[in-house]
Amino acid sequence: MEAAAIVLYPSPPIGHLIAMVELGKLILTHHPSLCIHILITTPPYRADDTASYITSVSAATPSLIFHHLPTISLPPSLASSRNHETLTFELVPLNNPYVHQALLSISHSFSIKAFVMDFFCALGLSVAAKLNIPSFFFFTSGAAFLASFLYLPTIHNITDKSLKDLNTLLNIPGVPPMPSSDMAKPTLDRSDKAYEHFLASSSQFPKSAGIIVNTFESLEPRALRAISDGLCLAENVPTRPVYPIGPLIVSHGGGGRGAECLKWLDSQPSGSVVFLCFGSLGLFSKEQLKEIAIGLENSGHRFLWVVRNPPAQNQIKVAITDQSDPELKSLLPDGFLDRTKDRGLVVKSWAPQVAVLNHDSVGGFVSHCGWNSVLESVCAGVPIVAWPLYAEQRFNRVVLVEEIKIALPMKESEDGFVRAPEVEKRVTELMESEEGEVMRKRTKAMQNEAHVALGETGSSGVALTKLLQLWGKTG
Ligand code: UDP
Repeated sequence: MEAAAIVLYPSPPIGHLIAMVELGKLILTHHPSLCIHILITTPPYRADDTASYITSVSAATPSLIFHHLPTISLPPSLASSRNHETLTFELVPLNNPYVHQALLSISHSFSIKAFVMDFFCALGLSVAAKLNIPSFFFFTSGAAFLASFLYLPTIHNITDKSLKDLNTLLNIPGVPPMPSSDMAKPTLDRSDKAYEHFLASSSQFPKSAGIIVNTFESLEPRALRAISDGLCLAENVPTRPVYPIGPLIVSHGGGGRGAECLKWLDSQPSGSVVFLCFGSLGLFSKEQLKEIAIGLENSGHRFLWVVRNPPAQNQIKVAITDQSDPELKSLLPDGFLDRTKDRGLVVKSWAPQVAVLNHDSVGGFVSHCGWNSVLESVCAGVPIVAWPLYAEQRFNRVVLVEEIKIALPMKESEDGFVRAPEVEKRVTELMESEEGEVMRKRTKAMQNEAHVALGETGSSGVALTKLLQLWGKTG
């Protein structure tokens, strides 16, 4: 009999790839006889980081089988795209013929039980449908954002305006009142190609066999209920089973620069350090880096801060190409590193976030609110100052502040700039105020809930078992 396989199809940003790999590992832990194949599109973003990540995963978990799809040459209009979401979406139809070939070749030796797509890869659903392979989505953001994503066609039909011009509070089932301008960045402007892609992808979801979402019942009960009850879908659109299997986060990582951060943290008092880190793609201008530095210095608090090179002028404002390390002295205010050397560490480009958040010395996190970072913070019991930069992070800030109540908002000006006094104020609030303490207690309670959810009889454990039973039967 042919061995059973699951094929995973992540989208290129490394945060999405990491999340999908974790899903693969989770499936293997519970169902070691399934073969897990992962399709890698090339060119991926940040080719070097992706390649070294895949090498290390393959060495540690050889039963994850990576398939590198042939390199596609981007049409000039796409190669010069300044919008990484549009680029990510538009790569999918170009890759479809290769995905088809890959599925066919895998199916010569394996019985494919499920094709699991990242939501950016929704336009790949037709390929699996043609081959009669059941398709599932893996939604790497939260349930509240999933609810808003499923609700997008409804919003589209009730107004002609772009979300950025709507200037209203949206009442999305299961979601706290959401300022229309806080919806996901690529959906704000109707004339934007990315908006069309979001809309088209949203209508693919009800055609799938189910949606796996990286969250857990007690973190987002209202949103999960609204989705399961079909409240986010237009009339006559079928609901799909939802499997909240999270929090699925990367295991502790160390090594390399990690050792330096962790050694430094070892010498700091318990719960005293604020960690500042802005995802795999976040970049700040030189002016903004200076404001952060002044705010941190004036707060008097201990900090561990990951600093990247600012984007070059006219360059896309996220790091989708490989980055060189920053020259810290020229980027930060004169004498800053010397003056703060006893209570601050600035690391270049990357820190082992999960290990840092779980270190006993860390007591707060200034985060861009990427969903992986949110879950990692919850699992470490560390409260957040929410400073969104791109994608659905402004939406996540509202959810974290208003619904889950584990974050304080960083308030930026219209153009997104944050002045030093605001940085100082929020860091101080998080680390010293009563409100900060309430957040800390709530985050620790959620940390405990996450642990319970992941147990065999916890909500996420049960959802995963259902999914695996289904895959055991399919085909
Ligand atoms: N990350 C890290 N060190 C860094 C920056 C990011 O380990 O210096 C990891 C972080 O732990 C998380 C992922 O990269 O797992 C970022 O995912 P997230 O969803 O938070 O944001 P994205 O990068 O997708 O915007």
